[in-house]
Amino acid sequence: MTRRGVAILGSTGSIGTTALRVLARHPDRFRLAALTAHGNAALLAEQAVAARPPFVGLVQDGRDAGEGWCLGPDCLRQAAVRDDVDIVLNAVVGSVGLDATLAALERGKRVALANKETLVMGGHLVAAAERRGGGEVVPVDSEHSAVLQCLSGRPGVEVRRVILTASGGPFREWPRERLERATLADALRHPTWSMGRKITVDSATLANKALEVIEAHYLFGLPYDRIDVVVHPQSIVHSLVEFVDGSVIAQLGVPSMELPVLYALTHPDRVPDAGIPAFDPVAASPLTFEPVRMDAFPALRLGVEAGRAGGAAPAVFNAANEQAVAIFLDGRIGFTDIAAGISGALDALGAMPGDTREALDAADAAARRHVRDRFGC
Ligand code: NDP
Ligand code: MG
Repeated sequence: MTRRGVAILGSTGSIGTTALRVLARHPDRFRLAALTAHGNAALLAEQAVAARPPFVGLVQDGRDAGEGWCLGPDCLRQAAVRDDVDIVLNAVVGSVGLDATLAALERGKRVALANKETLVMGGHLVAAAERRGGGEVVPVDSEHSAVLQCLSGRPGVEVRRVILTASGGPFREWPRERLERATLADALRHPTWSMGRKITVDSATLANKALEVIEAHYLFGLPYDRIDVVVHPQSIVHSLVEFVDGSVIAQLGVPSMELPVLYALTHPDRVPDAGIPAFDPVAASPLTFEPVRMDAFPALRLGVEAGRAGGAAPAVFNAANEQAVAIFLDGRIGFTDIAAGISGALDALGAMPGDTREALDAADAAARRHVRDRFGC
């Protein structure tokens, strides 16, 4: 068997370290070709010593960089286009991942995509790059991995709707008024998943679910009125697909990203892996579902409306969210200010054009500026 070369962009993060664990169990199938990180040179160096990839990239140029490393923001793209790379696992956080995704697709590679912001910001650019270069996006996000597995290749005309599950986050049961007083520590206490800080906050506001609805729209070519969201606090059912004959197929598993990461690498094949946590239906019980409290979590509605509006609106939604979350993580605004910041940016900038890369970059920058100005940062 020829081993497939894998580049991990964002190897020091939650998904990146999960991917390294998974890859270490499959040395017969995969070969690590490249690793990149943003600023965590110490962990990157440790990973590079352990796995000895031919390419190591660090975005932040600093004294701690190892010898022979590629330095600066372009290292992501350089890792993605290497000839010895077949699969680019894009696990960086934020819209900065877009160039690497596009470049890999244009060279016919598979992009195992955790970096959902890329697809939200530039879904049509990603689709065009796939068409031009023959590459493919395979989702790492657990909900979209579930949908892909439930679809098992059936055509879109057979799908009545997709139902994405949401844990509901740490504030699922909080009264709306109490959310004004939610602290950063409260927001970072996710009930079922252990993830990076930005997506953990996104899960608390439900902006993450809005990003995922837009992601599903682009990945599976479904209109927004055929993508629903339901709260499922146990995070065992990762999503469901309802077919036109009324059959509903779901994918289940314990809340761990190991399986979605593995499946994004091997799709459509399934391979044995003793490290994937075993599933016990009795231990997982009970499984419950409830409606989303749309009034308490306005970021979900704002994001889905932005998706429907198209143009630059999804990019504005994403960038305003990224900026507001960064300010929240710095402790400078309250939890409910995040959705307010997104809403203001969409009102002011949502109608900007979004047809080209330049237009999207302009919308992204304008949205970040708008949020910073609003909060005096
Ligand atoms: P983390 O914050 O844990 O890790 C982010 C990674 O990206 C780190 O390696 C970090 O490097 C790197 N990075 C951060 N900023 C930049 C930048 N500006 N340029 C280049 N690299 C950068 O995030 P997660 O692993 O949790 O999430 C990664 C992506 O996967 C996100 O898009 C998230 O939405 C998505 N995702 C995550 C899930 C999860 O379970 N964690 C589930 C589904 C999707 P450094 O460590 O050096 O700062
Ligand atoms: Mg998800």
